Amino acid sequence: MNNTDKGLDFQSRVKGLEEENLQLRSRIEFLELFNDHSNSWEAFRDKDGKLFYLSPIFEKITGYSRSDFISGDRELVDLVHPDDIGEVKLKYQKQFARELILDFHFRLLDKDNNIKYISLSSSPVFNQKNEFTGTRISCIDITKQKQIEEALVASEIKLKTLFNNSFNGIILIDEKGVIVDCNSKIEKMTGLSKAEIINESVWDLQYRLIAEDHKELLSRDFLKMAWSKEVFNLKVNETASGFGEILSISGKAEYIEDLIKPVMIGDKRFYCVFQIYLTEQKLAERLALENEEKFRKIFNISPVSMVLVRAKDLIYIDVNKAFTKLSGYSEEEIIGHTALQLNMIVDSEELEDVKKSLAEGREAFFSYRLRIRSGAIIDIICTVSGISINGVECYFLTHYDISDLREAQQKLQDKINELEVANAELEQYVFTNQELKQFAYTASHQLQEPLRTVTNYMNILEEDYSGVLDHNAIGYLQIVKDATRRMSMLINTLLEFSRLGRDKKLLKTDCGYLIKGVIGDLEYLVKSSDAYIEVGDMPELLLYQTEFRQLIQNLIINGIKFQKEGNRPVIKIRSERVHDSWKFSVSDNGIGLDPVFSNKIFDLFQRLHPDESEYEGMGVGLAFCKKIVQLHHGEIWVDSVPGGGSVFKFTIPDL
Ligand code: ADP
Repeated sequence: MNNTDKGLDFQSRVKGLEEENLQLRSRIEFLELFNDHSNSWEAFRDKDGKLFYLSPIFEKITGYSRSDFISGDRELVDLVHPDDIGEVKLKYQKQFARELILDFHFRLLDKDNNIKYISLSSSPVFNQKNEFTGTRISCIDITKQKQIEEALVASEIKLKTLFNNSFNGIILIDEKGVIVDCNSKIEKMTGLSKAEIINESVWDLQYRLIAEDHKELLSRDFLKMAWSKEVFNLKVNETASGFGEILSISGKAEYIEDLIKPVMIGDKRFYCVFQIYLTEQKLAERLALENEEKFRKIFNISPVSMVLVRAKDLIYIDVNKAFTKLSGYSEEEIIGHTALQLNMIVDSEELEDVKKSLAEGREAFFSYRLRIRSGAIIDIICTVSGISINGVECYFLTHYDISDLREAQQKLQDKINELEVANAELEQYVFTNQELKQFAYTASHQLQEPLRTVTNYMNILEEDYSGVLDHNAIGYLQIVKDATRRMSMLINTLLEFSRLGRDKKLLKTDCGYLIKGVIGDLEYLVKSSDAYIEVGDMPELLLYQTEFRQLIQNLIINGIKFQKEGNRPVIKIRSERVHDSWKFSVSDNGIGLDPVFSNKIFDLFQRLHPDESEYEGMGVGLAFCKKIVQLHHGEIWVDSVPGGGSVFKFTIPDL
């Protein structure tokens, strides 16, 4: 090459360099303008690696003056975080090898020793002749982004940790109720792995967890319906909740509270189900709350009057409707006052007794009188128990109005008194009756003896003195003899009457058979009177056979006897069941009797006919009948009209 050539060559190189320089400048100016408003700085190294440009934003990001670095007093690598130096040096080598570096992250320490995250990209710069002229380096401060990212990662880790290690179960379901995620608590509870749970519908899982004895009530379909109704309609800010008992895989019953919240992930809606396991304390609180609710409900709707009073001053702090109804006072009138202030206490001594038993702290049960709003006084039975409400000592009292009871009790007492009097009378009567019986027996028995003596002497008189006595005396003697005989008969009847039932024996008796026997015994009478006797169906009964036989016999005889002359007696004997008794009837077609005498005829020695009439008798048959029926605790009466026949009826209860 000659000198001219050399000169030309030099000139063109200078020109080229000038052009390059110009180009670079305009780029730098543009970049500086741009850089002022950005968070990235630009740097240029020449082909030998010497830094010849650093954009001003470098100072803003690092706090160092760029001239120190351009002058070569300091190297950019000095700012690199010691942990990242190795990496950065490797990248330097790549830069020297003219390789492209994209988005390489490392940390710088700024002047205040703060960490700055930098994303570095570098590219070799070539001129138009494709000659390597240097390296362009772009550094972006990504500290903020990094911090956000780190925070995000940290919070995601936190969330994940929370999600997985939560004491409570968490299930994420999609809009169709399909489980998309769940935490390890759910796995533990169900004994199933996440893989087994995911894709199952939430109600299927729930059904699995329900205690066996609740399964009848809560079918899968019911659960599905409940989810559709109560969860899938929730608005974004709404929460559904439920409380229930579930069975863990270990067989232990757990109480859970479900909180279900809709969540948006992207533009898709999911539901997050928090299964909160209630600790014993929580459960106790929850149950206490439920109990309180229950108590409140009972308190409000109970028909029993209930009040709560503060222990220290007996001020009413709550009353239920039943008490306002009982007392006539409104809730507002009562609450905040004492019974004494409301003039409800009738007897202050009673109040003292109440206070005393309350102070002794025992559950008390007492009665007292309450003056209600109308001024009326009612009898109350009261139960008291001490309870503590939110730390305030109270008494819980129930009131029962026993006024009606008292009245009924009084009536009962009156009745008892009446009965006692009647009983005393009855005892007296029984005693008298007994005495009378004894008297009748003794009298008739004792009378026999003198009567016999009289009769004997009458016979002696008649036999030994018949020649001596005149016609009149013999006539008188005859009258005395007749009277004596009659007296003897009366005495015997009386004796028999008083003995009636003495040796009574209760025997199971076929009444039909017995009656036929009686008719057989009366064969002569029946035949001679041409009587027709009809016997209906008869029961088998426990009765005093001998006495019953006499009863039937007397009635048949009377039916045949009290007939108009020439009338053929027709006697019908019937029986029918009436409640616990058998009712017998003996009817005839005889002369009948005036109903006025229907009671009298059952008395001893009572007859409706004069002695000399066609109807003989002593008036004892029906008295015997009555006594026999009474022995059986039955009743006897007659339905009859004169000339229309008679129906004698009696009852024999089942003994
Ligand atoms: P007596 O038959 O000895 O008179 P009762 O005691 O058997 O005594 O009867 C009392 C009275 O009742 C009878 O005198 C009679 O007047 C009336 N009497 C009883 N049975 C009948 C009857 N079947 N029909 C009408 N009167 C009767």
